[in-house]
Amino acid sequence: MKQRDAIPVLYTVLPADPAAHRFEVTCTVQIPDPEGQYFSLPAWIPGSYLIRDFARHIVRLEAMANGQPVTVTKEDKQTWRCAPCSGPLTLRYEVYAWDLSVRTAHLDQTHGFFNGTSLFLKVHGRETAPSLVDLRPPCGKVKGTWHVATTLPKLETDAAGFGCYRVADYDELIDHPVEMGNFVQGNFQVEGVPHRLIITGRHRADLNRICHDLGRICSYHANLFGELPEMECYLFLLTVTGKGYGGLEHRSSTALICSRGDLPRNGEHGVSEGYRAFLGLCSHEYFHLWNVKRIKPTAFTTCDLGKEAYTRQLWAFEGITSYYDDLALVRCGLISVESYLELLGQTITRVWRGPGRLRQSVAESSFDAWIKFYRQDENSPNAIVSYYAKGSLIALALDLTIRLQSDGRRSLDDLMRTLWQRYGKSGRGIPEGTIETLAEQVAGTDLKEFFQRCLYGTEDPPLETLLPRFGVAFHLRPADSDSDKGGKPATHSIPRTVLGARFEEQKGLLRITTVVDGGAAQRAGLAAGDLLCAIDRLRVTSGNLERLLEHYSPGERVTVHAFRYDELMEFDVTLQEAPPDTCFLTLMEADDATLRRREAWLGISSARTTHADTDDEKR
Ligand code: ZN
Repeated sequence: MKQRDAIPVLYTVLPADPAAHRFEVTCTVQIPDPEGQYFSLPAWIPGSYLIRDFARHIVRLEAMANGQPVTVTKEDKQTWRCAPCSGPLTLRYEVYAWDLSVRTAHLDQTHGFFNGTSLFLKVHGRETAPSLVDLRPPCGKVKGTWHVATTLPKLETDAAGFGCYRVADYDELIDHPVEMGNFVQGNFQVEGVPHRLIITGRHRADLNRICHDLGRICSYHANLFGELPEMECYLFLLTVTGKGYGGLEHRSSTALICSRGDLPRNGEHGVSEGYRAFLGLCSHEYFHLWNVKRIKPTAFTTCDLGKEAYTRQLWAFEGITSYYDDLALVRCGLISVESYLELLGQTITRVWRGPGRLRQSVAESSFDAWIKFYRQDENSPNAIVSYYAKGSLIALALDLTIRLQSDGRRSLDDLMRTLWQRYGKSGRGIPEGTIETLAEQVAGTDLKEFFQRCLYGTEDPPLETLLPRFGVAFHLRPADSDSDKGGKPATHSIPRTVLGARFEEQKGLLRITTVVDGGAAQRAGLAAGDLLCAIDRLRVTSGNLERLLEHYSPGERVTVHAFRYDELMEFDVTLQEAPPDTCFLTLMEADDATLRRREAWLGISSARTTHADTDDEKR
């Protein structure tokens, strides 16, 4: 094709061997660097801050120019250099794709999914040049007739979506994930822009209802920012599995994984916990359309994906996004106020239960995401804090503070609109610390101490004092059981005796996953990985631990037998009382001014302050 020759770089993607999970990719450079052309693959994917070394899945690579092989030398773990040659130069390589996650690539007889960061080698010197992508139908035996779903801009495709796509530069090339296979599709419009949901994997979900609910969430976010970013269409690429949860944001799409059971079936009413979590996930990724995909730190506008990009601002990009994901559900009427307060109570519980929050600040957590938050181990609860969870509580505290300081005239919504207008629309990066300065301007008050304590220090956001000003009471209680996530009042009132450790079942034994810092287990010398066999010479399992401990009071001593590696060890444990680390929130009787503040914050009118989604549940 003439048109193709004019484009500096052409990629072809062929699902060459679905049974062996191998894509075959070619990359043709019309005019290669006369000194020798360099190619490389990113080490990480934007939105997921971990070095993943995608190049390790390239299993074979060769180069040809004018019918002759070209020598290729590996320069480092992810970079190749071709010997000087005249163009066009074509690299041909295989990519192993067998990771069913939103971050990499997956291929079998049922479908193919990939992110550009896993498949498309960057042509050095051509990063800002346009390129073509030719998506080919699969080879060999596959299930059904495959179609393509992607937001890659179409140039020339067949009815199924196979064919040519064109992107403006490398950044765009790797920001449109591709799904191919047999999926179902639902459509809706937001502000006149076509939105699509496609679902891969077996399910019996009510597609119409999901599209209807997603439409409300998307419209809510578009309204908050005042407009949609410029885009032709938006795509939710959803894969359902038996057990899964996750999402990754892109410039006009999101890749999601959820559990089959989370989606509502036809004829099902009400919002189950699973569906609420699914809607929160979609809401989160869609909010990223503005916050982080366009409103982004300087560290991300200037980074190369070959190595880490450091920022202390992830509390704003992930924390604020996490604050708005669930808040949008109550503000657009999909869940009740009680349901929202339950979610908020659970987030507070997650943060309050981590002793690591007293060691690491959220700013540090952001900076060290690469080696700590994304590489968690048995000590993480004692060593780190989540910039998602605590970041969202900082956002909540900031929102409530701005509302109080401005007498209800301003809120965090104004800060987000300001960030969108000043930075997001132009794509200009935000320097470190600027969001805090802008927050002060929106609030009209000095917030340095607040940020110093809660963001750069390890203090908890002052929710116990802020929430009552909005007619919401803050309560802490001990956990009812190991599976108690918080968000609800206690189910019984007897003080619970605990070991001060977290467990999982392993081959009928109770394996310690984390020893809580300063707790009974740690003081007695128990360690993560120990396999508990008996308490006071009675066999202990995950099924009877709670019942065994019910017979003891806090302060009593027990003998614990456990295997460390293959040695049986004996520990003298002084049992402790379950700490009050479980939060639940309740609506308070309040004066008119307080009620008005609550209604403005949650975006509700008095009529639907309680049992707001009754109508919706009967829909
Ligand atoms: Zn996120």
